[in-house]
Amino acid sequence: MSIFSHSEFDDHQQVAFFNDSASGLKAIIAVHNTNLGPALGGCRMWPYASDDEALTDVLRLSRGMTYKSALANLHLGGGKAVIIGDPAQDKTDALLHAMGDFIQGLGGRYITAEDSGTSVADMLKIGDKTSFVSGIDKVSAHGGDPSPSTAYGVFVSLREAVYHKLGRTDLKGVKVAIQGLGNVGYRLAEQLRDAGAELFVTDIIQANVDRAVRELKATAVKGDKIFSLDVDVFAPCALGAAINDQTIGQLRASIVAGAANNQLATGDHGYQLHQRGILYAPDYVVNAGGIVDVYYQRKMLEQNYGLDNYAKDLASKVEGIGTTLREIFVRSDAENIPTFVIADRVAEERFSKAEKIYLPDPVSA
Ligand code: NAD
Repeated sequence: MSIFSHSEFDDHQQVAFFNDSASGLKAIIAVHNTNLGPALGGCRMWPYASDDEALTDVLRLSRGMTYKSALANLHLGGGKAVIIGDPAQDKTDALLHAMGDFIQGLGGRYITAEDSGTSVADMLKIGDKTSFVSGIDKVSAHGGDPSPSTAYGVFVSLREAVYHKLGRTDLKGVKVAIQGLGNVGYRLAEQLRDAGAELFVTDIIQANVDRAVRELKATAVKGDKIFSLDVDVFAPCALGAAINDQTIGQLRASIVAGAANNQLATGDHGYQLHQRGILYAPDYVVNAGGIVDVYYQRKMLEQNYGLDNYAKDLASKVEGIGTTLREIFVRSDAENIPTFVIADRVAEERFSKAEKIYLPDPVSA
């Protein structure tokens, strides 16, 4: 397996492989870029079919974190960890402790958090061995779960997109179709309802839909019909690749803004949205509320930085997502280039201007 010529290798600063035969841990940590600060990103546990699949995932995801944190204006770089294994069967305290030891060994260049296949409880276990962990309920106002902040960031983004595309300063009567009513989607629906929006919702879990109909007066929509509704906004809040060859032609919304990661199946779909005059709010700008939350949770470990500061700084930074989006929308119009391309450029301008490679303080490490 070759790293430097790997298709997903993008000038990553460090890729570290870990093996602990006693606990069965096999893991990879990729540090993409630390120009703006230590690399923070989740630790995913997944039964990858091959080592190369795990490497591909960690290289791609860590790069994405550099862009996401730069666009959220955080003093963070991008990194990610993957543990090769089935979280339902292979996860043990010994394995998580070994992972904690490895993270500690990187001396603070990488800070971990929960991701698919890992939980707040797992982060606490990893935290027995390293201080370079976030998203743990020792410090947060809401048990370490960043979803409420993600949902608020999506709400702010949607408001900004509606203002830019429709010239509306409020959301009263704005029709929004939400795909996926999970941790983020349901909270987003609540905020939109409070702001007077009209909701159309779908989820593969019927109980989530029933609850939204009952509590939020939403209209239930069956499956893929969600794509072709005559609404103002389509908000993908389920899985990735919602905008693909099958769905893109069905869209009647003039805005796409939602929480899901990797909404565009390919870059070409971003170009197609642009050509059709559909305003796409790039997912990794829109859903950055979670990483912002995790960042400020970590700051609470510092002296004299209490819950009040956390709440104030978190709100202001998540609202700043709207300002960044405005900059992206204006540049996209002026240069006639899709928003997702402009977003990449804004991120690159931010993280390549900072020329320092983050080296942890040996005392705190
Ligand atoms: P979740 O698992 O709590 O919710 C996803 C919901 O989508 C579930 O209710 C699920 O039943 C539903 N769903 C799945 N497939 C569907 C389909 N085909 N049609 C309709 N509904 C479907 O996840 P979440 O934490 O709410 O995250 C939602 C999305 O946002 C994910 O893509 C996630 O990666 C992304 N995201 C989440 C956060 C966060 O803080 N939770 C942060 C950044 C990005």
